[in-house]
Amino acid sequence: MGRFIPLCIPNFEGNERKYVDDAIDQGWVSTGGAYITKLEEEMAKFLHTDNVAACQSGTSALHLSLVQSGVQPGDVVLVPPLTFIAAVNPVKYQFAQPIFIDCDDSFCMDPVKLREFCEQECDFADGKLTYKANGAQVKALVVVHVFGNMADMESIMDIAHKYGIKVIEDATEALGTCYTSGRYAGKYAGTIGDFGAFSFNGNKIITTGGGGAVTANKSETVDHIRFLSTQAKTDPHYYIHDEIGYNYRMTNIQAALGVAQMEELPEFIRRKQANFDKYAKLFENYELGEIVPFREGISSNKWFYSLKINRERITAEMREIITRLQDNGIQTRAIWGLINEQKPYLNETTYKLEKAPYYAERILNIPSSTQITDEEIETVVSEIKKLFEELDNGKN
Ligand SMILES: *Cc1c(COP(=O)(O)O)cnc(C)c1O
Repeated sequence: MGRFIPLCIPNFEGNERKYVDDAIDQGWVSTGGAYITKLEEEMAKFLHTDNVAACQSGTSALHLSLVQSGVQPGDVVLVPPLTFIAAVNPVKYQFAQPIFIDCDDSFCMDPVKLREFCEQECDFADGKLTYKANGAQVKALVVVHVFGNMADMESIMDIAHKYGIKVIEDATEALGTCYTSGRYAGKYAGTIGDFGAFSFNGNKIITTGGGGAVTANKSETVDHIRFLSTQAKTDPHYYIHDEIGYNYRMTNIQAALGVAQMEELPEFIRRKQANFDKYAKLFENYELGEIVPFREGISSNKWFYSLKINRERITAEMREIITRLQDNGIQTRAIWGLINEQKPYLNETTYKLEKAPYYAERILNIPSSTQITDEEIETVVSEIKKLFEELDNGKN
């Protein structure tokens, strides 16, 4: 057996050590320092936006976006069921009510069902959308760009504008994904809605160990979010606080890592895209599983690759598939369990979930590190095919 092939590990081939040493030498290790500002500027430049606030995590970026949206206890926030739970937990931090809207074949929020929910389950009056069942106001929606894909933002933005709903883009998996055609050609995931949240956790396309960033469609809004992330201190000299703040600021050590990672981001994206093409080619015309394509009209960062298992032929549980691949040196993972089926969410409302449960039992994520070699990709594919052929019920 060859080397263990991990699912998705960080890549520090650049100036990471140099910049972190520099931050330590200067003594700027905490929530102030030049690397934080530099990272914010580099991200803003990359995303073609004018202001970005670096923070502690993608989760805190999402939480601050909800706070800034004015989401209050009891308000409704429309959310996806098939994603990482961190996209939805901040709704609970605000004691708001999540309602789960189904995904489409991109795994992102289905705009057709979103529109239907707004038209049929809600009333719209005086610029406010209210959920008929309990009279709560629908304040915001969280749209996740799953695995580096792009949600159908043209349709989602039209619906949100019509009904006065704030759009929070969870672009934690989609740094570098942008539209190449249509109304938003040239626009990056996270810069289309009212807010965009990014994550630099260990398995994301760039990492600062833990970290995140948030942007918004108005520069002053980002300034206010930055202010909230540093305990909302109003006066430079005195400890005066007119609002509830948070300890959500990124540290300079993390930002030093981030500045180095931003230098490599274009190369990471290039490799992820090239490796995706290799996988897609090796699985071409394969009956037992297919590589799920990304949306057309975009350039995706292709952060994670999805293999859709043919459930007509392979009925083995995910647990078995993952364990047997692991035994052969290949780390894979199942797509997330549905959030609405997790204990804290069992009593929440769902709206016409069909695609989400369908994909939840079919998608296997396969190794996608930027360091993966051609030979390793070939090994992954041949091991998966070997296993699938053993598990195939259709063979005779
Ligand atoms: C990673 C991730 C988050 C959370 O980011 P953290 O930096 O880990 O807090 C939120 N939403 C999605 C979809 C993610 O993949």
